[in-house]
Amino acid sequence: MTPQLQAKIIDGKGFAEGLRARVAKAIEQLKSKHDLTPGLAVVLAGEDPASQVYVRNKAKQTVEVGMNSFEHRLDVDVTQDDLLVLLDKLNNDPTVHGILVQLPLPDQIDEDEVISRINPDKDVDGFHVVNVGRLAAGQEGLVPCTPTGCVMMAKDQLGDLSGLEAVIVGRSNIVGKPLAHLLLRENCTVTIAHSRTRDLPEVCKRADILVAAVGRPQMVKGDWVKPGACVIDVGINRIPAPERGEGKMRLVGDVDFDDAAKVAGSITPVPGGVGPMTIACLLYNTVHAACALEGVPVPEM
Ligand code: NDP
Repeated sequence: MTPQLQAKIIDGKGFAEGLRARVAKAIEQLKSKHDLTPGLAVVLAGEDPASQVYVRNKAKQTVEVGMNSFEHRLDVDVTQDDLLVLLDKLNNDPTVHGILVQLPLPDQIDEDEVISRINPDKDVDGFHVVNVGRLAAGQEGLVPCTPTGCVMMAKDQLGDLSGLEAVIVGRSNIVGKPLAHLLLRENCTVTIAHSRTRDLPEVCKRADILVAAVGRPQMVKGDWVKPGACVIDVGINRIPAPERGEGKMRLVGDVDFDDAAKVAGSITPVPGGVGPMTIACLLYNTVHAACALEGVPVPEM
């Protein structure tokens, strides 16, 4: 007999809805008590279809929570100078509290120079080296959205994370590394694994919290998971789904969900897990940025 699914499925979509509702309430308070409406500017260069969808969703959710949304769509052949001029304008605009440059940027653009040009106090993606440094040094700053969402969900499942073993597979600047710092802040014992890690399944099996941020479909198997562990799957991979019809595709994570769900205590699905949390955390960061820039206390969220 095959073992049944035992893990609790973490509802990232519902969790994100709850967070957005709390953000909306905080914005209402900022408007009524401080006459402050947070504003988020999103810059999109080019016509990457996935980026178009992200930017549309971000703008929609920004307006839904009561913030001002400013969209800047630039041609695919925009010059570095024009992009930097726009960022200077947004940096100096008092109605803009958060600036997000949608990545990837067209080939002629130097991504590092662009990110460095954003005022770190408006860098709601948390990618500016000043915010990277603040996070590493344990100082207050803006923290990347996806790792923030991962920690919120892990805490919601497990409560106090202090002393737990956390293993993160993936060491990117946008997920793995910032997440390691956040989990250290929660007093976890943190291991970051990557493509050169020896005996990856054994390393993963130590984890009370196992995070996969790799970009390889269904790589993490059930026998890599410690019984009862909280498994957070950041991966978003498109794979062929012939069962849905010829040429059809479906989304899967970096974890073999059906296999891992037999062993884990809780697990995020893909889609519907970490993904929806990312935009909700962007809105949450924008409220933090607005309050810090305007010198007002952050309402509870
Ligand atoms: P990167 O490609 O930047 O990093 C991938 C990491 O995985 C690298 O550190 C790499 O190691 C490691 N890796 C690759 N192959 C293996 C392997 N066989 N064994 C162990 N480690 C391996 O990816 P990102 O961090 O940007 O994204 C990871 C995934 O998360 C992607 O699927 C992406 O789409 C998704 N994502 C989802 C988001 C969301 O909102 N839900 C947001 C951001 C990303 P090395 O450094 O040694 O090369």
